[in-house]
Amino acid sequence: MSTAFLIDSVANATAHRDRDDLDAAVARLVFEFVDARRVAVYRVIDEGCEPRLQRRLALTRDCGELGPENPRDPTRLPRVSEHPPWHECVTLRDCVHYEAADGSGLRSLFPLLGENDAIGLLEVDADGGLDPRDAGLIHGILRIVRNHLALLDYGERDTLTGLLNRRTFESSFGKLRERAAQARVQEPPWLAVVDIDRFKSVNDNYGHLFGDEVLLLVSRLMRSCFRGADQLFRFGGEEFVIALDAASTGGAAIAFNRLRGAVEQYAFPQVGRVTVSIGYTRLAGSDNSAAAIERADAALYVAKSAGRNQSLSYEALIDSGRLRRKEERADVVLF
Ligand code: GH3
Ligand code: MG
Ligand code: MG
Repeated sequence: MSTAFLIDSVANATAHRDRDDLDAAVARLVFEFVDARRVAVYRVIDEGCEPRLQRRLALTRDCGELGPENPRDPTRLPRVSEHPPWHECVTLRDCVHYEAADGSGLRSLFPLLGENDAIGLLEVDADGGLDPRDAGLIHGILRIVRNHLALLDYGERDTLTGLLNRRTFESSFGKLRERAAQARVQEPPWLAVVDIDRFKSVNDNYGHLFGDEVLLLVSRLMRSCFRGADQLFRFGGEEFVIALDAASTGGAAIAFNRLRGAVEQYAFPQVGRVTVSIGYTRLAGSDNSAAAIERADAALYVAKSAGRNQSLSYEALIDSGRLRRKEERADVVLF
């Protein structure tokens, strides 16, 4: 194996900014350089109560390539705790070698590490066990990938809350639109704008430090209310955006209202009760980010005017006549 070729391949893999593309590039890189029968990358999906494993990609000598495992119901994914070697690798954040239960031979698991936790696993099946030199090579590749991910996170996340930032929203909107374009075969994605109610008075009454703590706690509640496939952004100030993965109209209403209720129920230190208003809209394959945000904002505006602490759908407001479409509202001509 040529060192120059290896370095070149690592450089190509770390040129990816998209996590899915990066996962695939790492799996291909390991498959190319290590004598393995099968290489698979899994992501840990945190569904609130118990982490589960989702296969992103598997490469095999005999059967070629298997893509992501995407069941409609994420609770069909296996729990990390179901399989002791997975559990050990994720909790100890260390490499595990074991005999596969299906009799296929020795298997090695390597944790894919995020800032604090294992965010995924790399699984390698090698005939007769993994060569120690190959294991060392994989460790090295995964350390480079971890450094790369830390840098990506730094540029893509908001420093106070750790949520994705506005710039990331703009750059990831294309993927959301692609998912919306497939909405005939699956449920569509949704976009919500969440705004903390009367937040200025929190700052005025308790100071910015307590204001910042409210922002942090609201962001934590957001994480606990949504699934790993949903994307959470801090859009600026006390405004957040949620891109909800495929959901029915009823499912989206329940999900956003769950967040509204969780914030309402939460006892914020010193400040006490805080509420949020939410406006949301169904994404279309022809959407652009500004148009989608504008619709969610229009619904948010109705929620604010109607007393705050509400979660309202743009489409439902249009259907009920409480809101008119932008084209219909543009009846004042400016010269
Ligand atoms: P509404 O219910 O209509 O949304 O009222 P509001 O007071 O939340 O709305 P407004 O837009 O008037 O105020 C937003 C306030 O958010 C203004 C600013 O003091 C505060 N703010 C924005 N960014 C930050 C931040 O990073 N930290 C803190 N502590 N406050 C912030
Ligand atoms: Mg605001
Ligand atoms: Mg506000």
